[in-house]
Amino acid sequence: MKCPKCHSADLHRSRRRGLKEGWSLRRKQLAPYRCSACGNRFVAAETRAAGGQRPLSIADYLGLNDRARQQCSGPLIIAGLTSLFILLTIMLFLALALGWIDPPSLQRRAL
Ligand SMILES: [Zn+2]
Repeated sequence: MKCPKCHSADLHRSRRRGLKEGWSLRRKQLAPYRCSACGNRFVAAETRAAGGQRPLSIADYLGLNDRARQQCSGPLIIAGLTSLFILLTIMLFLALALGWIDPPSLQRRAL
């Protein structure tokens, strides 16, 4: 791959800018690159380093950058969502058990 402006091969991957660009480029398997010689930024087909194509993780879909992605691996996000769900279930159970929410009165109000 070469820079479309100066045809230099001295390129490096550029950061995706914002959620919208990150998501749309990732979907099209494109990535932004920057030419080290002239500083030109352009979008080209994404090249993967040795090891083949990495499957898209949950963090990718959320549009997290590399640093956030390293901190928020897929299992960590799933664990977080699961514990949030469990917490909400416990809260709902307590709310019903302790009478914070009274379903019969809600039904009567609806009628
Ligand atoms: Zn260039």
